[in-house]
Amino acid sequence: MYGYHGKILFIDLTSRRTWAEEKPESWYQTYIGGVSMATRLLWENIEPGCDPLSPKNPICIANGIFAGTPVPVGAKYGLASKSPLTGFVGDSLSGSWFSVALRRTGWDGIVLHGASEAWVNVLVDDGRVQFRQADKYLGLGTFATEEAIREDLLDDQVRSATIGPAGEHGVRFANVTNDGRQAGRTGHGAVWGAKKLKALSVRGTHGVRVADPDTLMKLSFDIIESAQGPHTAKYRLLGTATNVLNMNTLGLLPTRNYQEGVFEEAELVSGEYLEEHHKVKKIACAQCPIACEQVSAAKQGLYVDAMTGIEYECLFANGPNCGISDMNAVIKMIDICDRGGMDAMSNGVTVSWAMECFERGVLTKEDFRCAKYPEGFAPTFGNAEAGVTLSEMIRDREGIGALLSMGTKLASEQIDRERGTESRNWAMHIKGLENPGYDARGLKTFALGLAVGTRGGCHNRTAAYDPDIKGEVDRFSIDASRGVLAKRTEEYAAVYDTLPLCKFIRRCFSGKADRAGAWPAIQALINATTGWAFTYEDIDLIGERAHTIKKAFNIREGWTRDADRLNYRWHHEPMTRGPSAGHVVTEEELETLKDLYYQAKGWTADGLIPKSKLLELGMDDVAEAIGV
Ligand code: SF4
Repeated sequence: MYGYHGKILFIDLTSRRTWAEEKPESWYQTYIGGVSMATRLLWENIEPGCDPLSPKNPICIANGIFAGTPVPVGAKYGLASKSPLTGFVGDSLSGSWFSVALRRTGWDGIVLHGASEAWVNVLVDDGRVQFRQADKYLGLGTFATEEAIREDLLDDQVRSATIGPAGEHGVRFANVTNDGRQAGRTGHGAVWGAKKLKALSVRGTHGVRVADPDTLMKLSFDIIESAQGPHTAKYRLLGTATNVLNMNTLGLLPTRNYQEGVFEEAELVSGEYLEEHHKVKKIACAQCPIACEQVSAAKQGLYVDAMTGIEYECLFANGPNCGISDMNAVIKMIDICDRGGMDAMSNGVTVSWAMECFERGVLTKEDFRCAKYPEGFAPTFGNAEAGVTLSEMIRDREGIGALLSMGTKLASEQIDRERGTESRNWAMHIKGLENPGYDARGLKTFALGLAVGTRGGCHNRTAAYDPDIKGEVDRFSIDASRGVLAKRTEEYAAVYDTLPLCKFIRRCFSGKADRAGAWPAIQALINATTGWAFTYEDIDLIGERAHTIKKAFNIREGWTRDADRLNYRWHHEPMTRGPSAGHVVTEEELETLKDLYYQAKGWTADGLIPKSKLLELGMDDVAEAIGV
């Protein structure tokens, strides 16, 4: 088989036993790689209904088919476990050198079962697996852990995916980090921490055998050339941080825990301001000609030691959404997240929830006692020092940081139970995952995409904001087209997440990002790598199958139609200022949108998947398990 090694490595952390499983080529053709293959491995290896933080929740890693080849932005891998934030599928992507080194080990994926008794660093070195004692790395940040392992092994070819103190402490939105990139969002770091897995390290000597090297090389060079032109200029020059002013202009920039969509000091936390005052350098993932990551540093004041990569989502969450306009403090908050190993989006949205709780009197100054402030402090919106302190408290689970480390859903439910309050009404999450930086009250197709998302409030798994923002539909109203649009945009995203290819390359195939523009080139890349004869329609199927296996996983975990909902604020509280003021997504509108979406997907009115649909997709065993 070209393009794959044909085998998956299994590791039991409890017994320290390892074994290999070979999969037929048809399995690879169905699930390909990335989040799709990782989720399929999860489907096969988990006991349904298990506690996400128990040894029964496996860690499933699947590499991309282009990792280690010349294909630009193809060095990415997928990671899946049951999410401790949502209780549904937790599927994430990360990339860069870890993915290339994983390819060189000779394994297409790795599944880790069980839990270690002592903290461990698992090293996969070609066919050998070592269980290295990891106590000495405890307390080290993510970047420092990677570096320490490399130095201890005296081998700069070793690449490691690590957790930081947040994962060690059990922060439910802790993430996994490699090469400065994060497999973020759904709490993988907490799953790794519960297994006492501090780091997974990989190195190897295997090459990649592709079916048609000459064609693959030619296709890759053409895309690289295009990726250095105008189609990626936005990402190369300012990165995604450029969205701050764009979203502010549209009245969609979440401000003070999504109370408003316009931030009066947006200029001070914009990509342009970052570029002028804080930018240190740009860096790129392995195999990437774009280099979008804007590494920025705090330049003055209390936080001058802070330096990390800054992009829009972490910027909105820790800046405007907390009412904070001091860029030095925002960089510090993101730095705490990146080195501590936790999701900067969830951190910012959770801090902003706590700030609103304080301003409404649900939490008081005494609730915010900590070693630094024994009498407590007052975390009002805009209080930059409070934002920094709360981020540290969450990372260390100190004081109220332990409550906040559960994320907004669980934290608000606990507070409301204990105090008889209604803080869940301003807990800004979907299915337990904190929301992204686009206010869905002014983007109704996106509201549907978010509500039905399999991993919760995530902008990466649906591009349904596109037709709204580009004006292809009226973003403030609904119509019959939205079901098809939500289906099409989520499956489009799933194609990229499955190969995986970084979505920032999407305009570089023909100048057009749509399916007609991108699919022929993607089809040619797959066929030159694998020797398969995939058609245009097969590329659509990659996305549909990838989304379907995630949905099937959720159904098996107890998903019902009612789980596809938005947060209270987006349903009931319109913004008062800016171009998106006065709008909500009513509950009736959402139910109509869901009907349209389930219909477009070919599902039942309850949102379940008919057996016939699963059989049509070649997912026979899934049909047996959850088909209706
Ligand atoms: S564009 Fe950015 S995120 Fe995408 S592969 Fe390149 S550096 Fe990584």
